[in-house]
Amino acid sequence: MALYQQQELNIYNSLSGKKEVFKPINEGNIGMYVCGPTVYSNVHLGNCRTFISFDLIFRYLKHLGYKVRYVRNITDAGHLENDADSGEDRIAKKARLEQIEPMEVVQKYTIDFHNILQKFNNLPPSIEPTATGHIVEQIEIIKEIIEKGFAYEANGSVYFDVLKFNESHDYGRLSGRKLEDMIPNTRELAAQSDKKNPQDFALWKKAEPQHIMRWPSPWSDGFPGWHLECTVMSSKYLGEQFDIHGGGMDLKFPHHECEIAQGEAATGKNPVNYWMHANMLTLNGKKMAKSTGNNILPTEIFTGDNENLEKGFSPSVARFFMLQANYRSILDFSNEALLASEKGFNRLLDAYHLLDELKPSEKSSFEVAAWKQKCYDAMNDDFNSPILIAQLFEAVKEINTIKEGKSQITAPDLEELKKTMSDFLFDVLGLVDTAEAINDDTGNKLSGTIELLIKLRAEARANKDFATSDKIRNELISLGIQLKDGKEGTVFSLD
Ligand code: AMP
Ligand code: ZN
Repeated sequence: MALYQQQELNIYNSLSGKKEVFKPINEGNIGMYVCGPTVYSNVHLGNCRTFISFDLIFRYLKHLGYKVRYVRNITDAGHLENDADSGEDRIAKKARLEQIEPMEVVQKYTIDFHNILQKFNNLPPSIEPTATGHIVEQIEIIKEIIEKGFAYEANGSVYFDVLKFNESHDYGRLSGRKLEDMIPNTRELAAQSDKKNPQDFALWKKAEPQHIMRWPSPWSDGFPGWHLECTVMSSKYLGEQFDIHGGGMDLKFPHHECEIAQGEAATGKNPVNYWMHANMLTLNGKKMAKSTGNNILPTEIFTGDNENLEKGFSPSVARFFMLQANYRSILDFSNEALLASEKGFNRLLDAYHLLDELKPSEKSSFEVAAWKQKCYDAMNDDFNSPILIAQLFEAVKEINTIKEGKSQITAPDLEELKKTMSDFLFDVLGLVDTAEAINDDTGNKLSGTIELLIKLRAEARANKDFATSDKIRNELISLGIQLKDGKEGTVFSLD
C-alpha cells in the first residue's frame, strides 16, 4: 500500500478559503503547476522562498508515493513593467539598458535562477517550459476565446472581455474582489484606451515599432499577454483540468484570476482544483521586491556581504530558516533569526549523528511509532513544516536523554527513529547533511583541498594580505564551507 493511502493530506485551497482533503483527479498521480520567474534580473531571497515552499510541497507529495508531474515555467516574454498591460516588456527593457539581445538577458538570469535553486537543494521540476517556446499555442487559444465570444480585437491587440465573461461566470472568485474594485488607476487608463472596459486584460498586444520582442499573428506583429502563457503551458502539459496550481500570494490577482477566466472561457471547465499561495518574505517589515530594491540576494546570504548581515550563512541554514515558518505566513528576514536557525539546524544534525552512537536496550521509553505519526500529521495538515520541525526537536530531546543513559530505546525503534529523521530532514525538508559529504573518497580529496586553502589563507594573513585571506574565506562560505579560527588553528565545517 502506498503511503498516500495511509495518510490523509489536507490542503488549504485559496479558492474555497478552507483546508480540504486532497483528492487527485487520477489516483496516485498529481499534476502541479507553479508560476516561475520572469528572468530579467537575479532572483532575490523572496523569490527563493516561494520556490522553496513549493519544493517542500513537491518533495512531500513524492515522499507519499505520488507520481508528480511538476511544471514550472520561465517567463521570457510578455511580462510588462506594469501588471495592468502597460509599460515596457521587462526583459526588453533590461536588454535595451545593457545593450544586449533579450535572449541574452533570458539566458543569463535563467542560469542564475537554476544555480541558486540548486544551492538551496531544490529539486528540478519535471518540465520547465518557456513562454517564447509556446507562441503558436498562445495564438491558438486566443482564437478559441474570440470564437467563444469572450475576447475582442481592437487595433491589432486582443483583449479579454471581463464584463461579458462575468455574465455567465464568476470573475473574482479566487481573489474575492468585486468587478467595480478592479479598475486600475487613471494613469494606466491612458495606455488602455483600446479596451472596452478598464477591467479587460490583454491576450495579445500589438508591438510598438520600437518593441523588439515580436511575433506574427492574425491580428498584428506583437506579443502575448502575460497571463496567457500559464494557461497554455499548464493545459498543454497537465490537461485542461489539473490538481494543483501554485505561486506567490502576490500573483493571486490579477495573474491567477485571469488564468481561471482564460481557461474557463476556452474550455468551459474549471482549470484547477487546488490553488495554493505562498506568503511573502519581508525585509524590515516590507515585502522583498526587485522593483523597490528592498531585497537580499542569495549570494549575499552565503558570503555575508550585506549590511543586514554580520556573517555568511549556508544555503541549508537559509532554507531551514524559511521552513521554520508556515508557507502561508509572512516571514521577516533578519540576521538574528538566521543565527537562531543556524543554532537549531546544528542541534538537529548533531542529534541525528548521535543516533549512530546510541546503544539499544530491551525496552523503549520513547514511543517512536506515535511520534512518527505526529510528524506525518504535521505535514498532512497543509504542509505545516514548523510543526514538523518542532516534532524533530522532540526527538532531539529523546536522543540526548538516551545518550545520557536516562532513557532507553530498542534496536528496531532506533532503526525506525533514524529512518524517520532521515526521511523528514533530508527527503522532505530537503536539508543537506554536512557530515555525509566528507565521509567518502571525494570527501577526502575535498578535505585536502580545503586544508590547502586554509594554509594559503594563514600565509596571506601572516603577510597582512587581508584582501586575499578574506577572499578565500568568503568564497569558501559561498560554497557552503565555514571556517572557524581557534587556539588550535582553523577548522572547517560543511553546511
Ligand atoms: P517574479 O519573477 O517577479 O514573477 O516572481 C517569481 C515568484 O516569486 C512569484 O511566485 C512571486 O510571487 C514570488 N515572490 C516575489 N516576491 C516575493 C517575496 N518577497 N516573498 C516571497 N515570494 C515572492
Ligand atoms: Zn503564471
